[in-house]
Amino acid sequence: MDKYSKLRPPKQTPDSEICKCSDTPPIVLQSSLSYNPISCADCNLEVDVNSLDFNNMLIEKIADWRDFHFCFFKLWLDSGEFEIWAKEQLSNPESSVNKRALIIREEIGITRECFYWWFIDNLSAGYNSLVKCPNCSNDLIRRKNKFNTDTKICEDCNIIVAD
Ligand SMILES: [Zn+2]
Ligand SMILES: [Zn+2]
Repeated sequence: MDKYSKLRPPKQTPDSEICKCSDTPPIVLQSSLSYNPISCADCNLEVDVNSLDFNNMLIEKIADWRDFHFCFFKLWLDSGEFEIWAKEQLSNPESSVNKRALIIREEIGITRECFYWWFIDNLSAGYNSLVKCPNCSNDLIRRKNKFNTDTKICEDCNIIVAD
C-alpha cells in the first residue's frame, strides 16, 4: 500500500470499470469523481473516451465543467459552512453549474444520445425520489434498459435521475 497514493496523479480507471456495452447505449454526463465524467446509461460504468466522437472544443468544455462541478461537489461533501449552499447550487436548475451542464449535454447529444445525471442527496432525511423533472416539472418516466437499473428520465430535458 502506497501511503502517498492520494498525493500522486490518479491511476487509470481499471478495465473492469469501463463500459463494454456493444449496442451503443445513450451516455450520461455525470458528476462522477473520475477524470472522465461520461458514463453509460445502461451499465453506469465509465465510457472509454476513444469510443466517443467529440471535437476539441467540446472536450475542453466537458473538462472545464468537470472541474467547475467538482468545486461545488467538494464543498457539499466537505459538510462544512458551505454544505447547504453547495447543495442548493447542485440542486437548482437555475444554477450556473446545472445550466452549463445542460448546454454541454445538448452539444454532446448531437453526436450521441446523452442524458445529464441530476444531483440528488438521497441520504438526507426526508428524501423522496423525484417524480417531476427538476428542470421543467414534467413527469419523469422510468427508463427501460438491459440491466434494469433504476433510473427515471425527463424526455424533454434529457435529465436522468436515480430512482
Ligand atoms: Zn455500458
Ligand atoms: Zn424536464
